[in-house]
Amino acid sequence: MNLNTPRRSILQGLVASAIVIGFDVVGRSWVTSANAASIFENIPQLDGTLYTDSETLVNASVDFGNIVHRQPIAVLHPGSIEDIVQIIQFARTHQIKVAARGQGHSTYGQSQVEAGIVINMSTLNKIHFVGTDRAIVDAGVLWSQLLQQTLQQGLTPPVLTDYIELSVGGTLSVGGIGGATHRYGVQVDNVLELKVVTGSGQLETCSQLQNRHLFKSVLAGLGQCGIIVQATVKLIKTATNARVFELYYDDLAVFTRDQRLLINDERFNYVEGQLIAKDTGGWRYLLEAASFYSPPNIPNNNFLLAGLNYTQGTEKIEDKTYFEFLNRLASTVAFLKSIGVWSFPHPWLDLFVPNSAVESFVKKVAASLTVADTGQGAVLLYPVKTQRFQLPLFRVPKEKVTFLFSILRTAVPPDSSTVTKMLNDNRRLFEQNRDLGGYLYPISSVPFSRNDWQQHFGLFWRKLVSAKRRYDPDNLLTPSPGIIEASAPKQETIT
Ligand SMILES: Cc1cc2nc3c(=O)[nH]c(=O)nc-3n(C[C@H](O)[C@H](O)[C@H](O)COP(=O)(O)OP(=O)(O)OC[C@H]3O[C@@H](n4cnc5c(N)ncnc54)[C@H](O)[C@@H]3O)c2cc1C
Repeated sequence: MNLNTPRRSILQGLVASAIVIGFDVVGRSWVTSANAASIFENIPQLDGTLYTDSETLVNASVDFGNIVHRQPIAVLHPGSIEDIVQIIQFARTHQIKVAARGQGHSTYGQSQVEAGIVINMSTLNKIHFVGTDRAIVDAGVLWSQLLQQTLQQGLTPPVLTDYIELSVGGTLSVGGIGGATHRYGVQVDNVLELKVVTGSGQLETCSQLQNRHLFKSVLAGLGQCGIIVQATVKLIKTATNARVFELYYDDLAVFTRDQRLLINDERFNYVEGQLIAKDTGGWRYLLEAASFYSPPNIPNNNFLLAGLNYTQGTEKIEDKTYFEFLNRLASTVAFLKSIGVWSFPHPWLDLFVPNSAVESFVKKVAASLTVADTGQGAVLLYPVKTQRFQLPLFRVPKEKVTFLFSILRTAVPPDSSTVTKMLNDNRRLFEQNRDLGGYLYPISSVPFSRNDWQQHFGLFWRKLVSAKRRYDPDNLLTPSPGIIEASAPKQETIT
């Protein structure tokens, strides 16, 4: 057994009242946080380490959002896939909840689990194979790590998120959208095969051809049916450089019209956009587009800018390497970390707004949105084509085009009243967008009830519930979003 912490430290920090964390089906007794230590005495032999020290537990109760804090009783750093199988089977025996944690970049506790076991996937981080059209990677691999390796062979994953220090398993559990999505869908649309440990502790291989039901239940499945342990992801050939265009607009309708034009004719490889706060108040609009190329071939600016109605003279055009472009957030993140703002609460809101409503909705939101409401966080707005999306659990409006509208708030000052106001604003905007036929991208910080989830999944709700029963019969996996009602004993406090 590789439990590197003595029993005494498991008991450290326990509160006077004990929390029921499960039912020991072997011992036929309730497991509480007070007697949790005893169950770990029966932990199977592991290749990795199961931590129970308070520092590790506290770290697992903090995510990028820094709003929700749920503390586990143990954190597994798996040394192998077999460790995950063992721990889930162990958790089943003792009816303990489990959640995977990639990089913990969720904003609302999605990868946390109160009084349960967190599987920190960062130790499962091997790139097993890079071929001409695919790579086989552990789920804890970062997209940046994969990209650096594939670029050596002139290859790239087709879609990357704006920030590439996210784990493969983490983004495949939510979707993974970026500036190339208008061409290639989201990251979950670019997966060929998965290895998954289900909630029943079985290691399964799944793809569109094999075990398809599990494949579709896990991709963008918010960790409900299984832990992704390995993925075979598509690769495509890439150019070495990126010509990056920044074009400013004063008019929202002109801006979105040009964005639609660009995603439809696909003249650029990458299309995104933002609302930019004006010094005088209000917003202007920034269209960001990139054309990838390998010298001596260079992009034709006249062709790329033809027919666009940006404010003349505002354009900025810059050449970067492909990697510099995809890694463009690294310096901003380093700066935010250096001034401490990275650890402020981040009540992010990410909505998919129907094309038909985008101008009226965004105009109304922008009219009252101030820099105090965003804490200087970015406000993203860009369109994608829904026909590119193949996975049912990645929920978007039923129109050909939808806009990602993200208010990436930082709570400044980082106090509870600022966070509460931002969460209330998120909820209000979510409801307004939902009533227009829009959807939430569930990486967001929005208080969500089971009814909200039911509505979110719509026709797929029953399928998700039955997949959950099939693959996670004890309802142990990823409880934080509150998607499926607890069938196992609810957490309660015994005084
Ligand atoms: C700075 C920043 C920029 C971002 N930019 C983008 C962007 O451009 N596009 C975009 O789509 N998203 C973006 N995101 C959001 C990001 O995709 C999600 O927060 C994603 O979940 C984070 O990945 P992670 O590895 O940190 O996962 P975590 O936050 O650790 O986990 C996310 C969820 O997935 C589950 N999970 C994690 N690993 C696994 C696994 N192996 N198997 C099953 N379930 C698992 C967790 O339990 C949790 O529910 C950004 C986030 C940040 C902080």
